[in-house]
Amino acid sequence: MRDPILKIKDLKKYFVTSRGTVRAVDEISFTLFEGETLGLVGESGSGKSTTAYTVIGIYAPTSGKILFRGQDISSPVSARPKSLKRAIQIVFQDPGTSLNPRRTIGQILELPLRVHRVGDRHDRRKKVVELLRMVELPEDYIYKAPHMLGGGERQMVAIARALATEPDLVILDEPTSALDVSIQAKIINMLIQFQKDMDLSYLFITHDLSLMRNVAHRVAIMYLGKICELASAVEFFENPCHPYTKMLLSSIPVVSEEEEDVKPRKIVSRGEIPSPVNPPPGCRFHTRCMERNGVCSKALPKVVEVGEGHFVWCHLFEEKEEG
Ligand code: SF4
Repeated sequence: MRDPILKIKDLKKYFVTSRGTVRAVDEISFTLFEGETLGLVGESGSGKSTTAYTVIGIYAPTSGKILFRGQDISSPVSARPKSLKRAIQIVFQDPGTSLNPRRTIGQILELPLRVHRVGDRHDRRKKVVELLRMVELPEDYIYKAPHMLGGGERQMVAIARALATEPDLVILDEPTSALDVSIQAKIINMLIQFQKDMDLSYLFITHDLSLMRNVAHRVAIMYLGKICELASAVEFFENPCHPYTKMLLSSIPVVSEEEEDVKPRKIVSRGEIPSPVNPPPGCRFHTRCMERNGVCSKALPKVVEVGEGHFVWCHLFEEKEEG
């Protein structure tokens, strides 16, 4: 295993609203290693995007630590040194809103180079052309406005912009979920290739668990602000443990008999995800869990390592560990 690039320790992000305090992210910890893709997976309202925005510095944490190569970066992006802003980049879900409609593609790609004082005008122009080639877009797109491009092309520009400053860590916030299926595979393949070529580390935020089978090295599942299972992608799909993970896996389509054999039997989801304002006590999942017992609504589950690097937060596994 390579060195950690990102360490999240007991991270909390709460929002005070007129309806009460939203506990969007509630004491989560995980590590992302150099060159790794960690998939952070959850339904809408699980806290996965809030985690991403807190790591990038859009939100300041309520408490807890964010360490980048050992350096504490638990501060809003405005307070971070420029070198850190260069090293950590993000690709947002919707390229339609993340690209400035009043700028040309050339200006959009040149901006991070200007901000980080990369070369002179000539060098930057050369680099913009290289970036367009890298994402397989024609050179004359330099003169086009974002609205003249298709959704997939705009997302390729957004990826090129994120990679312009040669970052080390890229946060991918549902980068393909707003796109047609036909273009999704192309973008995913590009991202995998860029990771190999540039030794990038990815924190991949998604609601699409099936996508993680071929993309992530490890997967963490979030539910109502908490992580409930974390394992290598192989272990995760072959030996899912947490009842919520099994529920998610049971509903994804499979393409081969081998996958059908290891897929959990269909579990019908019970109820909706509760509000993160005043979330349920005890295990956050107990209001929907088919395997809950008396303790589940009273006490938060502790983490149990059920296999090497395979962590589960569920009382059923605490009992097995003790018994
Ligand atoms: Fe279900 Fe209880 Fe495990 Fe939560 S702790 S997932 S409610 S069995």
